[in-house]
Amino acid sequence: MATNRTFTMLKPDAVEKGHVGAILEKINASGFRIVAMKLTQMTKNDAETFYAIHKERPFFGELVEYMTRGPIVAAILEKDNAVEDFRTLIGATNPAEAAEGTIRKLYAASIGENAVHGSDSDDNALIESTFHFSGREMF
Ligand code: UDP
Ligand code: MG
Repeated sequence: MATNRTFTMLKPDAVEKGHVGAILEKINASGFRIVAMKLTQMTKNDAETFYAIHKERPFFGELVEYMTRGPIVAAILEKDNAVEDFRTLIGATNPAEAAEGTIRKLYAASIGENAVHGSDSDDNALIESTFHFSGREMF
C-alpha cells in the first residue's frame, strides 16, 4: 500500500538559479504538505552513499560532482499517494522528455542537471528521509 510521504531535493542548479521559491510554490499548489525542510550541502561521501545504486553508471562521477557543488534544499512532503504523485509533478529524468508544466520541463537544463529529486518508491522515501533528517526535524 502506498504511504503518504516522499523525499525531495531541490538540487544545486535550482538553488543557484534562484528557482527555490517557484518550485516550492508549485509543490504547495499541488497539495503537498512540507513535513521537513532545510538548506544543506552534501559531502562527497554523502552523495556517493545517497546515489550508491548508480555507482557503476558512466555518469556517477559527474553526478557526485554536481550534487556536492553547492547547497540543496532537502524536504519531506506529505500527500495521499505522495511518491507517485510527486514523480508525476517533477516529470521525466530527461527534461526533453518531461511533460508540459512539470518541474523538470520548467526548470531543468539537462538530464544531468535536472533541478529536482523525487523518491522512486515508499521504501526509498523512508531511507532517503532518514538519511537527511532526524526524527526531531520531521513535523
Ligand atoms: N543522471 C544523469 N545521467 C543519466 C541519468 C541520470 O546525469 O543518464 C542523473 C540525474 O541527475 C538523475 C540522477 O542521476 O536525476 C539519478 O538518476 P535516476 O535514473 O535515478 O533518475 P531520477 O530518479 O532522478 O529521475
Ligand atoms: Mg532515481
